[in-house]
Amino acid sequence: MRCGLLGEKLGHSYSPALHALFGDYDYELFEVSPDRLGDFLRVRDFQGLNVTIPYKTTMLAICDDLTETAATIGSVNTVLKQLDGSLLGDNTDAAGFEGMVWKSRIRILGRKCLVLGSGGASLSAQYVLRKLGAGEVVVISRTGENNYDNLDRHQDAAVIVNATPVGMYPNTAASPVDLRQFPHCEGVLDLIYNPARTALLQQAETLGIPHLGGLYMLAEQARCAAQLFTGEVIPAIRTQEAYRTLRSRMENRILVGMPGCGKSTVGRALAAQLDRPFVDTDAELEKVLHMPVGEYITHYGEEAFRKEETALLAQLGKSSGLVIATGGGCVTRPENYPHLHQNGAIFFLERALSKLPKKGRPLSLKGSLEDMYTIRLPMYRRFADITVANDGPAEKVAQKLEEAYEHFSD
Ligand code: NAP
Repeated sequence: MRCGLLGEKLGHSYSPALHALFGDYDYELFEVSPDRLGDFLRVRDFQGLNVTIPYKTTMLAICDDLTETAATIGSVNTVLKQLDGSLLGDNTDAAGFEGMVWKSRIRILGRKCLVLGSGGASLSAQYVLRKLGAGEVVVISRTGENNYDNLDRHQDAAVIVNATPVGMYPNTAASPVDLRQFPHCEGVLDLIYNPARTALLQQAETLGIPHLGGLYMLAEQARCAAQLFTGEVIPAIRTQEAYRTLRSRMENRILVGMPGCGKSTVGRALAAQLDRPFVDTDAELEKVLHMPVGEYITHYGEEAFRKEETALLAQLGKSSGLVIATGGGCVTRPENYPHLHQNGAIFFLERALSKLPKKGRPLSLKGSLEDMYTIRLPMYRRFADITVANDGPAEKVAQKLEEAYEHFSD
């Protein structure tokens, strides 16, 4: 069976990996320009399609039959070639978003919901929010009556749904709204799945507002599409499994800890075990700075070094699937946290002070190692999702890190 994702520009897509978790069929990327769409659909050399930008409304008009969901929403994201060759259009984004709402446990019934953006994903979200009994659904559109200049009208909003690409990789520093404008906000749902934690979600986390990113929606809409393609029931639990698998693959594993605590050695062992690239930020910086870190600090000062380090972490933090050993002092800059947290699980590799090397570390030269340890310990703890003791062979500690990750991620 030949299935795939139809869109104009696809770039990197998680869909093939996801569909491989749901069914035993070929899943390809069909990158088709608008002038070739007619030919592609005439030949119909596929059994099933997922549809993305800019063809979701185009396919609505082209499909011979529509499910009630697709017809009501006015957007098609899944197409099945039926036995007679005709095309059935469905919308599994709606089921995906509904799954995301349930997973988040954010309550919709009777709540005022703001949906940011008015594109295809927004239509699916609006449909589901109404179906789940939202008190009011307001669409914020750059060009609409409700827009980003009059958000103060909606200070009473309880749920914010981001259905815009604002905050998506690679522009991950951007956020569509400032949540402090919504003092009654009880939940934030961001349809973006790369990065795992957008700037909007990180702000929700800081403010203590329940929140969830779009990866679960992606997994659930894929399960529903796979059911349509194969004609088989795929149990809902498989969405949770696929979500965990994909998230684990995407998320960086990031090690923080004192200079000499073993981040690079354990990081290399972990990268080998997970078959992932390993990055040592100090080694990367030395390539950029064209000199050893210690020498750079001596010449230009620590402040200049930290700026370079933050710029590198901003880049690396956006990546997926890396194992990253950071420099011991990266936790001294709070601005490094969102960079690392956006797509990574952060491990504090703890090692007893008596076991840390006293020589050869440039920053250890300033003050005693004991002082540095006392000052930095709370900083490492603040950054860390998981603390693991480096108290054995690197391979064993790396295994411990990954086991801790499995328990940590829901
Ligand atoms: P789309 O059709 O391009 O619509 C996005 C909407 O966002 C636009 O209609 C626009 O609405 C608004 N927008 C675009 N650029 C903006 C900007 N610079 N600033 C503010 N608003 C902007 O895209 P889509 O298919 O609906 O997807 C939207 C997002 O949802 C994407 O990030 C996509 O990756 C994500 N998504 C996730 C899943 C999932 O399974 N998790 C599924 C589908 C989509 P206005 O012009 O009205 O402002």
